[in-house]
Amino acid sequence: MQTIDNYNFAGKKAIVRVDFNVPLNEEGKITDDTRIRGALPTLKKVLADGGALIIMSHMGKPKGKVNAKFSLSQIVEAVSEKLGVTVQFAPDCAKAADAAAALQPGEVLLLENLRFYPEEEGKPVGIDKEDPAYADAKKAMKESQKEFAKTLASYADCYINDAFGTAHRRHASTAVIADYFNEDSKMLGYLMEKEVQAVDNILKDIKRPFTAIMGGSKVSTKIGIIENLMDKVDNLILCGGMTYTFAKAQGGQIGNSIVEDDKLELALNIMEQAKAKGVNLVLGVDCVAADDFSNDANTQVVSAMAIPEGWEGLDAGPETQKLFAAAIEGAKTILWNGPAGVFEFDNFTAGSRAIAEAIGKATAEGAFSLIGGGDSVACINKFGMADQVSYISTGGGALLEAIEGKVLPGVAAIKGE
Ligand code: AMP
Repeated sequence: MQTIDNYNFAGKKAIVRVDFNVPLNEEGKITDDTRIRGALPTLKKVLADGGALIIMSHMGKPKGKVNAKFSLSQIVEAVSEKLGVTVQFAPDCAKAADAAAALQPGEVLLLENLRFYPEEEGKPVGIDKEDPAYADAKKAMKESQKEFAKTLASYADCYINDAFGTAHRRHASTAVIADYFNEDSKMLGYLMEKEVQAVDNILKDIKRPFTAIMGGSKVSTKIGIIENLMDKVDNLILCGGMTYTFAKAQGGQIGNSIVEDDKLELALNIMEQAKAKGVNLVLGVDCVAADDFSNDANTQVVSAMAIPEGWEGLDAGPETQKLFAAAIEGAKTILWNGPAGVFEFDNFTAGSRAIAEAIGKATAEGAFSLIGGGDSVACINKFGMADQVSYISTGGGALLEAIEGKVLPGVAAIKGE
């Protein structure tokens, strides 16, 4: 497989798929530039070699239509500033051949939002899935998606995918385009390489013991991951709102706590699986119960199996925090996805904080720790602990699908898996 480090971009044009889907405020100003900063090492490598850049991305969900609200023209200035090069802008991503051809080494062209064309996502628009004509429309769209990808590919000598956030989608710019480049001229960007390596560290090159911490509100949205991890982990901590489904399934009283009544069987099944596979399953024994879903609610620490009527568990209790820390300390591989409580309320952050601190300690002692999936990243940032873990993934859905064991089309298109 070609790598960005082995490729000399001198005199070449590279088309790079990045994730510049940054949040903008009412005035169109960027409120968080993490994603732009994430792509800089790759973009700078091409320029430093003496190559020219054609940058492409989506922004928001314009659903195949031109919409000024989602125009990437709004970020040209910020990208220029960060790259130290005046970025040119192509207002129509499918009609940028002349602008691309005119690019000189060291120059940069940013294409307008790819999703202004329905071909990018490859889904037919304006036709219902139930419509008998849908299958034909989908087939036709797949053909025009190929044409669209081919047009994008024609702008450049080589292709780099550095957009991990969309790697789980088979879109024109994330996967289909790779078919128009030979093996030597398509590669993953640095950010993608790091993400793929991080996932390999927890799924393939595992150093033991391996502790996974899965939290969040619902077991139903995490079941694919829990099942895939069950064959790999030594310790599995389940925390957050999903644990009340486990407590109820075992006959516990959970008051008003969040619960999925149709997943009680599933919860018992997970417990069985853990036992059969010799996985140390760690569930909370106590919790911080509140008399209202609010930061200012009255609270009491109660058994996780005996939450009084009218109260709901919103955080892990002190005994549970100790159990969690014990299963994290000494681990050599750690994955954390999903908070242990309603961490958005300052008074219910203790469980998540105990987890973050134990991870920080284990990491300092040599563990590899991967934090991923929106809310646990938000937790780590809220606690100011981002520099105490090994890797924070930039991909929400893409990371979760990778941990479920699914092949990511954006990675497979280049690695050929
Ligand atoms: P998820 O999107 O499934 O990863 O869940 C994240 C959300 O779960 C966060 O917004 C947390 O506030 C919420 N959460 C965690 N613990 C609880 C709980 N005990 N009760 C209600 N919500 C919770």
